[in-house]
Amino acid sequence: MATPIIIDGTTDRVRKTPRVVLPTNADLFAERAVRFESVAMGNAMAGYLQLMAKVARAQHAALGRRAAAAVPEAATVASRDYGMPPLSAQSHERSANWHADLADIVSDMHAQSSNGVETALAALAALDENSRESLADRVLAGTSLDDEAALVPFIGAALQTYFTRIAATLDIAALENCDVPGICPVCASRPVASVLRIGGEQANLRYLVCSLCATEWNMSRIQCSSCDTDKSVKYLVLQAEGESKAEAATRAETCDECKSYLKIFYQEKDPHLDPTADDLATLALDLLVDEQGYARSGPNLLFHPGTS
Ligand SMILES: [Zn+2]
Ligand SMILES: [Zn+2]
Repeated sequence: MATPIIIDGTTDRVRKTPRVVLPTNADLFAERAVRFESVAMGNAMAGYLQLMAKVARAQHAALGRRAAAAVPEAATVASRDYGMPPLSAQSHERSANWHADLADIVSDMHAQSSNGVETALAALAALDENSRESLADRVLAGTSLDDEAALVPFIGAALQTYFTRIAATLDIAALENCDVPGICPVCASRPVASVLRIGGEQANLRYLVCSLCATEWNMSRIQCSSCDTDKSVKYLVLQAEGESKAEAATRAETCDECKSYLKIFYQEKDPHLDPTADDLATLALDLLVDEQGYARSGPNLLFHPGTS
């Protein structure tokens, strides 16, 4: 007798672990704001982390203020048929929404009386549309912006808001073919960090977290997220006083093949961690790893050297 084909959904009980997790949590930025505040306590970068808590709160307000721009049909087809990320950051034609997001974030920061960044906020408010577009292109391309370094976190915050809002609306089934390991299957950006998750379907799996749209995608553990090798991966940690190496909640996953690194956070050590916030709270680890000759493989869009 032929094996019956189960079509009533009962096979759903044997759930596959999700390869891609879209940023559908509407409170993502609000939770990040809380996390920034908590990691600021006692941190050498406290002032900057508190400022970023305000930025994240402004992102949360902007996120809910407008609907996601529609994804062009051609991008959806190219994604489903050829595995092209549907919102590829460097080729996606941004709608006017992101200008509105930036304007909201700037005025919200004024309202939260953000001392120390008045000059940057005034400069942002004075930019014409072309200058804003050109700055956004350079932030997304990772081009060094020394003259405008102080503007980068706000442009990055507006772009995160815009891309996250659209990413949350995507059909996950159409992303099945987007599987270049080290880049986001939604927007083709590099990850800000990776997280070893606890709980739910993601438990005990390592996910890379997009620096731009907050989408997470699964990657096997002990594998370089930049060149895919599993041969020369090592871990560097910053140990707190009296803490063993194994207890450290943050490690830098370094690769001797491509000489790059990315941080990995362990949620079992702290369930409330947020990769973007925790990354900025552990810049001391970046300094240590840079000294050993490794270059960071993914950006944090809320930070540009020289902004703090
Ligand atoms: Zn992304
Ligand atoms: Zn590598």
